Amino acid sequence: MTTGKLYIVATPIGNLSDISLRAIEVFKEVNFIACEDTRVTSKLLALNNTKTELISFNARSETNKIDYVLKRILKGESCALVSDAGTPTISDPGVRLVNEAIKNKIEIIGVPGANAAILALSISGLPTDSFLFEGFLPQKKGRQKKLKELVIEKRTIVLYESVYRIEKLIKELNEYMPERFIVVHRELTKMFEETWRGLPSELLTELPNKIIKGEFVVIIAPIGWNQN
Ligand code: SAM
Repeated sequence: MTTGKLYIVATPIGNLSDISLRAIEVFKEVNFIACEDTRVTSKLLALNNTKTELISFNARSETNKIDYVLKRILKGESCALVSDAGTPTISDPGVRLVNEAIKNKIEIIGVPGANAAILALSISGLPTDSFLFEGFLPQKKGRQKKLKELVIEKRTIVLYESVYRIEKLIKELNEYMPERFIVVHRELTKMFEETWRGLPSELLTELPNKIIKGEFVVIIAPIGWNQN
C-alpha cells in the first residue's frame, strides 16, 4: 500500500477571498483535514463547497494526535494540516507533526498563502533584505531578557502581539529602544486594517485616539534607519 501525503496548507488571515485555488483543490482531494478549531475551518470549507472530514489538532492536543494522524497517512490516507489563520507551524502548531512525518518518510507538500509577518513586512517600507522573526515575545518570564537581547539586534525585527499586550509592548519599546522607528500593522486584510508608523514615543502619544482591537504585527526598523 502506498503511504499518503501530508499537505501543509496556508489559509487566509482575515479576508476569506485570500484562499488559494490550490488550497481548495487539496481540501477536496485529501481524506481528512487536521485543524486547530473545527468551527473556524468548517466555515472556510462551507464557503468553498467542501465536506472533507475535519479532526481537531491544536497546541493542547498535538502530542496525543500525532500518532493518530501518522497512522492514517501510513495506511494510505492523505491529510491537510491547517491552522485557524495563516501558515501552519509559524507561531502555530504542527512543527512536531512535520518532523515526525519526515522521520516516517512521509512526503510533505506545502501549499503557500497568507502569513501575517511576511505581508506586514512587504508593506512596512522597512528593509526586508535581512530580518529577524521573533513571533510572540514571552508573556511574562523571559520577556525583559528578550527585549534586552533585541536592543543590540541590527536587523529589522518582526513581532506578533495580541491585543492584550500591544500597548505594553509599545511602552517597552519606548523604554528599551526609543530611537528605533516602528511600524504597527493592525487587522491586516480585514475591514479595519490600518498601519501606525513612528517612534514608540510618537505612537504612545497617538494611542488614546486609536482603536486598540484585533490582531497586530509590530515591525522594528534596523538600528540607525530613518525614513528620510
Ligand atoms: N500562522 C499565522 C501566520 O502565518 O501569520 C500566525 C498565527 S499566530 C497564533 C497569530 C498572530 O499573528 C496574531 O496574534 C497577530 O500577531 C498575527 N496576525 C495574524 N493575523 C493577523 C492579521 N490579520 N493582522 C495582523 N496580525 C495578524
